[in-house]
Amino acid sequence: MLSKHSKLKQTTLAMRKVVNFSSGPAMVPESVLLTAQQQMLDWNNSGMSVMEISHRSQAFQDLLTDTQQRLRQLMKIPKNYHILFMASGARAQFAAVPLNLLKPEDSACYAVTGLWSWLAMQQAKKYANVTTAFEIDEPNLTDIPAFSDWNLDSNARYLYCTPNETLTGLALPVMPDVDLPIIADMTSCILSKRYDVDNFGLIFASAQKNLGQAGVTVVIIRDDLLKTAQEITPDVLNYQLFNNANSVYNTPPCYAIYIMNLVLAYYQDQGGLAVIEQQNQQKAAMMYSYIDQSEWYQNKVAKDFRSLVNVTFQCPTKTLDLKFVEQAAQHGLMNLKGHAKFGGLRASLYNAMPLSGVEKLLEFMDEFKRDHK
Ligand SMILES: *Cc1c(COP(=O)(O)O)cnc(C)c1O
Repeated sequence: MLSKHSKLKQTTLAMRKVVNFSSGPAMVPESVLLTAQQQMLDWNNSGMSVMEISHRSQAFQDLLTDTQQRLRQLMKIPKNYHILFMASGARAQFAAVPLNLLKPEDSACYAVTGLWSWLAMQQAKKYANVTTAFEIDEPNLTDIPAFSDWNLDSNARYLYCTPNETLTGLALPVMPDVDLPIIADMTSCILSKRYDVDNFGLIFASAQKNLGQAGVTVVIIRDDLLKTAQEITPDVLNYQLFNNANSVYNTPPCYAIYIMNLVLAYYQDQGGLAVIEQQNQQKAAMMYSYIDQSEWYQNKVAKDFRSLVNVTFQCPTKTLDLKFVEQAAQHGLMNLKGHAKFGGLRASLYNAMPLSGVEKLLEFMDEFKRDHK
């Protein structure tokens, strides 16, 4: 019923003028934007826009259920995990996780692989005891020690990880094999490849990288972790309350959930995660192999930990980096500046980035190198 969008996909795709390499909010598949445009004034024969209908209506309930089912199918989420839609972005989860899972006397263990995990740890410190499995060296931020060298606190309630650090393009290719529940911030890597949900206690991701529009955050939580909310847990961050209310505890970000629904349907049409993962591997491999053989551009991340979706690189000088960003934009290649804290350049290649976008970037990189070598 709700995947009308697959029919609408046939409409001519508007040739967009630019390729957007932003780390987030990031590109959304073109056919999703066109479908949303077509349905703006009349969704599902209601005569209304999705943003105008009641979140308690049957139509919206159906949309919610359909969205959960699509995500469950794509990620093969087992039955003992619940899917919640919450608001306030991933950073609200930095607080929600400790506020739901820890008592003040409890401790949690954080793997600090970059800025996002560091920020999450700062929130947890407000509410409970925190230890670090390890903390990555500043200013390098480019290598992760072997799991056997991690300092695991066996009394901790959970181990917190960020499988893909968006800023530096540093990723954990596999998850540590530990007895603790793993909590993962998958904001920039959810649906970019297959993850075995069984390895995690809780996964969260805000939407603006691979799930559409900012405003909604997906929380995938294992049954046994639902019931640990504390007296002080704010109701709007309480996993149990959200689960009991099927994510309609208060007015959810309805339109962002609708866009996510279209994005997930699009991923299903593409052939699901096996196909998407392969495309992402191809895009990343093209970038890294070009950078490595260029002897001019450089990627500083240790090879085993290179991100599939955020490719960071540098020209030989900072001045050239700035010039690169400027000239790339003149060629319609947008948002290639690295994060202020890490510097350099960054191309974010989430699912909506077509292969042709990467080809255009590589062509430009080669031209820029020739002109400035
Ligand atoms: C973008 C990002 C965030 C921040 O998400 P918000 O929705 O802005 O709070 C957190 N973690 C990671 C890994 C990110 O990539």
